[in-house]
This record gives sequence, C-alpha cells and structure tokens, in this order.
Amino acid sequence: MTKSLALGYWMSGMMAWTGFSEPLSVNGNASSQEDSQLADHLIVLKVDATEIGRKIIHSKSEIPVHPGMMTLYYPKWLPGEHGPNGPIDNVVNFHILANGQALRWRRDLVDPYLIHCNVPQDVKQLNVSFDYLIPVGDVNFSSGHSSSPQLGIINWNQVVYYPSGFNADHWTVKASLKLPANWQFGTALPIDNAGNPTEFKLVSLVTLIDSPVVAGEHYRRISLDQNSPTNEIDIVADTENALALGDDKIAQYRKLVSEAKALFGAAHYEHYHFLVALSDVIFHSGIEHHESSLNTIPEKAFTDEEIFVGEAELLPHEFVHSWNGKYRRPASLTTPNYQEPMIDDMLWIYEGLTEYLGSLLLTTRSGLSDAEHTRDFLAATAAAMNERSGRTWRSLQDTADDAARLYMAPDQWEDQRRSVDFYPEGVLLWLETDTVIRQQTHGVKSIDDFCHLFHGGPSGAPTVKTYNFDEVITTLNRVAPYDWEKFWLDRLNSLSAHAPLHGIEASGWRLVYNRKPNAFIASRNKAKKRIGTEFSLGLLMSEDGGVIDILKGSPADKAGMTPGMKVIGINSRVFNPDRLNEAIASSEGDTGHSIDLLVCVDDFYKTYSLDYHDGLRYPHLERIENSTDLLSKITEARASHSE
Ligand SMILES: [Zn+2]
Repeated sequence: MTKSLALGYWMSGMMAWTGFSEPLSVNGNASSQEDSQLADHLIVLKVDATEIGRKIIHSKSEIPVHPGMMTLYYPKWLPGEHGPNGPIDNVVNFHILANGQALRWRRDLVDPYLIHCNVPQDVKQLNVSFDYLIPVGDVNFSSGHSSSPQLGIINWNQVVYYPSGFNADHWTVKASLKLPANWQFGTALPIDNAGNPTEFKLVSLVTLIDSPVVAGEHYRRISLDQNSPTNEIDIVADTENALALGDDKIAQYRKLVSEAKALFGAAHYEHYHFLVALSDVIFHSGIEHHESSLNTIPEKAFTDEEIFVGEAELLPHEFVHSWNGKYRRPASLTTPNYQEPMIDDMLWIYEGLTEYLGSLLLTTRSGLSDAEHTRDFLAATAAAMNERSGRTWRSLQDTADDAARLYMAPDQWEDQRRSVDFYPEGVLLWLETDTVIRQQTHGVKSIDDFCHLFHGGPSGAPTVKTYNFDEVITTLNRVAPYDWEKFWLDRLNSLSAHAPLHGIEASGWRLVYNRKPNAFIASRNKAKKRIGTEFSLGLLMSEDGGVIDILKGSPADKAGMTPGMKVIGINSRVFNPDRLNEAIASSEGDTGHSIDLLVCVDDFYKTYSLDYHDGLRYPHLERIENSTDLLSKITEARASHSE
C-alpha cells in the first residue's frame, strides 16, 4: 500500500515538469533484462572532507546511466533513525555534468529528495557534485551538528546520490575520503589503500551507508578482542586529555564484548568498531550499524565519573543493536532502499528490548555500571514513565506507530504528548517478561534463552533476518509457554495512568521517592545543563531558568506555569539552581509558605506561587522485604573472563 502511494506521488511530480510520458522504473527490483543492460553498477564517490572543521564537505561522484529520463535519490529514510531525516536542506551547489556539459535537472514537485534529469544520447556516466553543509544548533541525530575544528563525522548517506530503479544493495560503491592533514579516523569500512585520500574497498551502497567514519586530530584506537570476530573502540576527541580512558574502563568494555557474545551465543559481524566522538559542541546521540556504532557523547564522558554514570549505557545499547535491529529486524523496517517509508510499529522490541538488554543487562554485567547505579537507572526510568500524564490518552503502541514524528518533536509539552516512550517503558516490560520466564520455568530459563533462540544462530558476516509480531510470540512460547500474546497486547495498548512496575516488583524491588539525589538523573542533568525538579515541583528546567516542560497535575501545573517561561527570581531573590534547591529542601513540612517564582513569559513578568511542602524528592528502588533479589541475579556476569 505504501509502495503504490509512493509511486503516485513520484509520477505526479514527474509529469508536472515537462510532460514526459515514458513511465520510469520505480523502487524495488528491476527485471533481470534491465539489470543486464546496466553493464556497470559502480558508483565512484570521492569525498573531500578537508574543510569539515569549518562544516563543509565536498562530494563528487560518477554515476553510470543510460540515455533517457532518470531520477536520482538522496537518502531520505535513515536506518537507525527510523524516520525521514535525510538532511536534504544541507545540500548546496548541486551540479550534474554529462560528457563535461552542464545537465539541466529539476527537483520533484512532491518529494524534494528526488532529482529528475534527461540523460542525452551517448552519455554513459553522470558527474554529480555538491557540497554538504553541517548545521550548527539543535538539529537531531546524524543531521545535526557533527563537526568541530578538531573532529568530524562522515555519514555517507549525507554525501551520496544514487539512481532510482534498483534496490540500494544493487549498487557497488568505490569510495575515497580526504581528511584534514594529520587527522586519523576509525570506521568499519574496509580499507583498500590507506593515505590521504584513503581508498576504500568496493562495497554495496548499503554497507557504505551503514559504515560511518569518525575522524579527528586527537585519535585513539583500543583493541577489545583480537579473536575473530574482532572488536575495537575508535575514539576521536576535541582534546588529547579526553582520550585518557582508564585501564579499568577498557577492561569493562572487554567484558561488554564477552558478555554480549555469551548473551546471544553468536555474533553477526566480522569486525566491530565502537566509533566514539567526545565533544561538548556536537549533537549527542547513538546510532547503530551492523559492524559499528556511532556514539557522540560529552568531551569528558570517559574521564569524569559523574558524567560517565549517565553515558555508561550508550555503547552497550548500540552494540546490542548489531543483533537486535540489524541482524534481527522487523520486516516492516526492512526496506529495499532509503526512499521507501519505514513502518515503526515494532520499535517496542527493536528499541525496547535493546534498552533492556544493552542499557540494563550488559551495562551491569560488564561492570560499566555498579548495582546501585543500575538501580538508579531503573528507578529513573520507572518514575519518568509513571509520571507521564500522556499515557492516559496515547498507548505505548501509539508512541511506536508515531515514532518518526516523536523523535523530532520538541521537549516542550512532552509530558502530555509522550515521546519515544518505547525505550524506557520497554525496559520495564522486558524486565517483566524476564521475570515471568523465570517464574514459569522455576528459574531454569531467562531472557538469555530467548536471545539465544531469536538472535543466535550461526555466526558470520552481516546478514538480515526479518521477523514479525507472531515470531516474537512464538519464540517466547518456546522458551516458556504462557499467554504472551495477551501479555504484550494488554501492555502495548494500555491507557493506564500508571507505568507497568510489576517487573521491578517481581525482581524484589519497589519504586520509592526520597531526598537522596538519583545519581543517574544527576549525571544526565549535568551533561544537559538541566535542573531536575520534575518529581517535586513538576518542573523540568535548564540551569539558566528556562522552563522545558511541566508535569500535568504537579504544583507547577496547578500554579499555571507553561513551557517556554524563564524563571528569573525565587522567593524575592535572583534565581539560580542552588536557591531553587534550597527553597525546595526547606519547603518540607512548611505549610505556611509557598515557593514563589518570578518569571518572564513572552514579553511579560509574572509571579507564580507553588503550593509545595514535600522537600527534595528523587526516585530510588527499595528492597521488598522477604522477597528474592532477582534483579541482582539478572544482572550477574555470565561470561568467563580470561584476562
Ligand atoms: Zn537504539
């Protein structure tokens, strides 16, 4: 259905231009006859990133063509981002030459990612050139701020056009990359000829786009596992000091690799690269790939323990995706090229299970997080979902169905809108699944057995094995017979005001609030320059007093506050984060006073009185007396580590 819709759009734009009547080939497999006519499937791509420090990348490519009407695609739907985020607006100075002559082109009138042109007779190749300009500021994910004067990220989808008419893996690409002098780089892309430019081996367009590059003046490579399949970390940083990853941390990342192999029982890569960029100026995110992951985190993430607490789970999460997301992929997310829309309805397993396996299990089993920090992560996750007011109008399933929009939605009003909640709520639901498996099998089986069945199989080079909802349910039933279909449908479609906390309780713990700061929340707030008063006043703020969101039903909501305000005074004094925390702390039991905030809202000053008297309030987990501490058992290391 989506396919025929796309065809309709595409043709309408085409006809609008010059009235060409010839139907063109569209997305999907071409006939074998057509295939054989195209003698050359090779795209030569030369990327000049010598100016990446000033946020300009130059792209030149040679694309094999036949005479007649043709369409070039700029990648739109990006794997791992689950949305139509291809940064087309950053493409400038676009030119096509045919036999040295400028060729007229026109953009599709409906889909700006399509460029139409008419290839003259005797032309076998187009020379396409353009510049990719890196934006600065608050743009999300790989389309965002991705370079500094000291480092840069090359996402190949940003610097390549490819012809329509075939699956993306039909195209072979011979890529080369020129970097600033003295920069080094890391990538999963196999190297043919190291130098500047570096020539890469022939790969499919799919492998190319799945293999980003981190490059920089300050670079460190750390081998984690030299046995096949190999694992390494490639780090670039804004400063040399930021590369000083301690031996204890390196040992934990080595354990991460062996714990992952123990969890899944197989590996579907040959050489895995954790690509890491440490910078306070670039956009922070993690994007999974089959043989690598791109992790952009604060400059001091590896050298400041307080910051690391909030970042510890990122590399394990992205690593798990090599199995859950890349190897095993929902059929609805497995598209033939980068133009066909992806369907996000199964992200509660693609991302939700990854969050449970990576961010909780492997982060703890590897030692990257200790037991207390893990409980803080879980408590923060549970509390955030339990406070979400939007859960009474929109189900978790709906957050997945609408994920492409929600990823890009603003932080303002997130409490009522909900966000990509299948990540945090996925942790709660897959923890519950794990506890049910253990109960049903009297402790004999666990989620590890599901992973062996679902993600295991023979090890080897990257390949994709698709699945659907029924296979997930069938596999769960093979591990432990239970009404898994009802279990999942009930939880995915629930409109309960409360988060599903049964998994935490079945693992021997309960969610409580007390005055002790939650280390995971504190770390995240430090990195994002935020103040966490959402569980007391119901206010999520930036350190400068900007109100990011308010929780419905909270003291801030009842006082009439809204996102976008700026707090400038507190209890008759100039606002700062310490004074806010002091005011909250001294509110405990003091029913005689409110907390008064002077705010600037749009062009006006206003005062809001918050009726709050419960003091500082942060989420934690507390043991349920006389119960088994299953959580500690679940997060125990499994692999034998020889060091
Ligand atoms: Zn993920």
